[in-house]
Amino acid sequence: MGVRPGADGSAPSGGRVFLVGAGPGDPGLMTVRAVELIAAADVILFDRLIPATALAGARADAELIDVGKIGGGAQVPQDVTTAVMVEQAQAGLQVVRLKGGDPFVFGRGGEEALACVAAGVPFEVVPAVTSGIAAPAYAGIPVTQRGITSAVAFVTGHEDPGKPETLIDWPALAAFPGTLCFYMGIRTLERIAEQLVAGGRPADEPVAVVMRGTYADQRSVRGTLADIATVVRAAGIGAPAITVVGGVAALHDELGWLEAARPLGGLSVAVTRARAQASGIATTLRGLGATVVEAPAIRIEPIATELPGLERYDLVVFTSVNAVQQLFARLRDARALAGATVAAIGPGTVAELRAHGVAADVVPERSISEAVLEELTARGPWRRVLIPRAEEARELLPDGLRAQGAEVDVLPLYRTVAETLDGDARAQALTADYVLFTSASSARYLHEAAGTLDGPRVVSIGPVTSDAIRALGREVDAEATEHTPDGVVAALVADAAARR
Ligand code: SAH
Repeated sequence: MGVRPGADGSAPSGGRVFLVGAGPGDPGLMTVRAVELIAAADVILFDRLIPATALAGARADAELIDVGKIGGGAQVPQDVTTAVMVEQAQAGLQVVRLKGGDPFVFGRGGEEALACVAAGVPFEVVPAVTSGIAAPAYAGIPVTQRGITSAVAFVTGHEDPGKPETLIDWPALAAFPGTLCFYMGIRTLERIAEQLVAGGRPADEPVAVVMRGTYADQRSVRGTLADIATVVRAAGIGAPAITVVGGVAALHDELGWLEAARPLGGLSVAVTRARAQASGIATTLRGLGATVVEAPAIRIEPIATELPGLERYDLVVFTSVNAVQQLFARLRDARALAGATVAAIGPGTVAELRAHGVAADVVPERSISEAVLEELTARGPWRRVLIPRAEEARELLPDGLRAQGAEVDVLPLYRTVAETLDGDARAQALTADYVLFTSASSARYLHEAAGTLDGPRVVSIGPVTSDAIRALGREVDAEATEHTPDGVVAALVADAAARR
């Protein structure tokens, strides 16, 4: 495990507990340290309110224990959680106790740290972005603001302010000169507001409530102390939510930025590319607010082949990113390509070649084979042509070049094979709002695995993929004009905007 050395500089031996905050919900707000520790842990005890992808990087053999609930039912009692955590560390394991938000802000992290001390188990704390700051920020509310407030208090709304045993001094809290951020205060909201007004805060003081802040489906409402309970009820807002009381809450009206920045907010999108290629598109989609379901229907399998002498060809045509990667994986000396004209189809292929230090000489404007053939023909004639590519591909290009008298060698470097999708991934893909297909094979394999493509709206990368989808009995809802991953995302955003 990649832990830091012990205090005396020696490597730590034996078990250890890491009290780690997972942030408020947006996976992008997890700390680098949290991600590192999750990747290295032997055991992870996690809460319910953590980012959907928080455990994605855990080791395959790590033990993941959901202490938020037992089989979808009751919460695991705190003393059981603490006992398991301590025992596992005493058994010599690296234990990550993963909590929503910050571990020391209403997270019972302090109690768990005390239990470690009592048991003599070494521990570390990894602070994180707390929802009391992040949820307001994602709703355009700075918790402090020059000229409005210079103090902020984090308060639990868990205790019913109407009950005599409340530990909170409500009159003192009402008199607090600054912003109040309530955690766990939805059920008690009405009485909280009453107590604050009774304590002297103006009934028209601005209040905002942010539900599932920083998650893709964040919702927020605005009101005043007088009406916020009614507003929240009418809007169906529930836990988890942060309630912000104070002048800054009104800034939401001007600074709410999320909707503009996240055109895919609230939508789930299934990505069917091979796992290795899906992450770029998934990151882009998450940045636009989508919840991404990774359903890799295909996998790239290299074919064991020796490369022919490349010097013999006067034209080499790369038809895909995979073809470039697979060729360079086998190439010992890039100068072998020096004498040939290099053609690249599609911007992704051009970029991949550039990453290998090759500037393509011919880049057809349109990425489909017919257009490519036309453009290559115009630049010919060619004598000997090499087309490194997938085993299964359209023959239009090689046949077309042969018809013009060229000697064409097709070099199959890889094949796309079906990736086995577990039932969960399959079900999630088919209940997503959208499914993206960046190749005909991914559509075919998902259809084979799931028996249908019905359910989500379908977005295709281009005409060839769209034809394959239609052949499977499914209409295409949107097709990319630019036949690249970015083009598919653009088509999706346009379709989503048109439907809002
Ligand atoms: N340690 C956590 C708080 C745990 S208490 C933190 O630092 O954020 C649980 C409460 O936190 C919830 O009832 C809710 O009030 C708040 N909360 C947690 N995540 C939230 C989110 N994404 N949006 C709004 N409130 C959230």
